[in-house]
Amino acid sequence: MSKVTVCARFRPLSSSEIRDHGSCVSIHRIDKESFNFKDEKDGDLCFSFDKAFYEDSAQASVYEALALPIVQDAVNAINGTILTYGQTGAGKTYSMEGAGILKCDAERKGLIPRVIEGLFEMINSSHGATAYSVKLSMVEIYMEKVRDLFDMSKDNIQIKESKSQGIILSGVTEIPVLEAAEAMQILSNGIANRAVGETQMNVSSSRSHCVYTFTVQQETPADKRTKTGKLILVDLAGSEKVGKTGAEGRLLDEAKTINKSLSALGNVVNALTCSPQSKLTHIPYRDSKLTRILQDALGGSCRMALLCCCSPSPSNASETLSTLRFGARAQHIKAAPSVILSEDKISRTQESTIQKKDLECERILDMLKDRIGTEEVELLEELLILEGIMFYPAPTEDLKLEYDNVTSKIISSLQKALEELASAADELKKQNKVLETKLAAAENRSFWDKMSDVFSLLSLW
Ligand code: ADP
Ligand code: MG
Repeated sequence: MSKVTVCARFRPLSSSEIRDHGSCVSIHRIDKESFNFKDEKDGDLCFSFDKAFYEDSAQASVYEALALPIVQDAVNAINGTILTYGQTGAGKTYSMEGAGILKCDAERKGLIPRVIEGLFEMINSSHGATAYSVKLSMVEIYMEKVRDLFDMSKDNIQIKESKSQGIILSGVTEIPVLEAAEAMQILSNGIANRAVGETQMNVSSSRSHCVYTFTVQQETPADKRTKTGKLILVDLAGSEKVGKTGAEGRLLDEAKTINKSLSALGNVVNALTCSPQSKLTHIPYRDSKLTRILQDALGGSCRMALLCCCSPSPSNASETLSTLRFGARAQHIKAAPSVILSEDKISRTQESTIQKKDLECERILDMLKDRIGTEEVELLEELLILEGIMFYPAPTEDLKLEYDNVTSKIISSLQKALEELASAADELKKQNKVLETKLAAAENRSFWDKMSDVFSLLSLW
């Protein structure tokens, strides 16, 4: 069982912070992992994380501590998630993307370009016959709606759960990529789309959570088995309090939704860490789209790394403290990453029964849509999934594979039955012949032969 990696990162003071408080900071370094935080109420508070990064820390060192082990895992088919958390302006996007995703100097490159380069380096240097393929998807969660950043027409992607694949974004655009430069170009298109969406909806990127997913699939020719490692990077929306920003109207609604999803994230973390029997406690993943998407990451089936981004300035002390407390809590989550073999998780027969049941449920839900509105039906579908009555049917390739398997099994058992029938018919024919000969022999017996039988019977009396 390996724990979650949690690091804290303090960005340099901003010009407005210097204007307000000069070079004064609310943190005092102890060593590479620990620091003291000066709190007005509680005095000095000591925090210890896996690593602490300060204004002079290089982007490369953040990648090495936080992301490199997770990238290695993804290539070995172990799922991983990296989150940046903190108030707006604390350095989440700088840590994720760097100073621009395409034209950024080597020094300031963020986690995403480094992850992409690392991923392709590892794949290209791997020896042996394993074939790798990488796919990218990019979505944004804004006001509890999941928007596809590679296809703007998909503005309300549904989150489903599959027995074999865990949490999936139904119908999300996944773009196959062959090399790092191509992946970077595709992601920069997604980021540009995010900006278009922002101006259309009058939002800023700090108002939405951005989820980048890299799916690394590997196939071994010997046994035709496929293994998949998913690497998810999440640039979270700002965690600042509503009161401080003085938001009103739509801004207030946005802030409330962000707070709701971030507190849902906090509640999930609390539920996962509050008791030793946390497995038995209800974990409220369904309270927000964010926690639902992160269910596999938080629930322990993959590796997780959290970067708590903070301002070092006393003017943001309360936000920094709440970010650090969130990180300290998350340190107690236990993660037990495992390789997911696409065929192994549940048996084919179980899967086919589940699929049949699901299709039946979907048919009924479709009929209901005409009578009681789509929203209520979607709620009902959620309930059915929650109760374990329904799972999301596997994608078409899986269904086709299942269909081919069943068809070939039926054909071979029919052939066997035919062969058995043919040999049974032969046997019957043989027995028939024997009987016919016996009958003919019996009819040919003479009258006196038959009479002697009668007399011998009578003599017994
Ligand atoms: P967030 O995404 O958390 O809202 P940003 O990443 O956009 O915050 O950072 C806010 C500003 O601070 C940006 O101008 C960014 O370039 C700068 N910044 C953040 N972290 C660092 C850092 N470690 N070094 C230099 N500049 C940084
Ligand atoms: Mg940002």
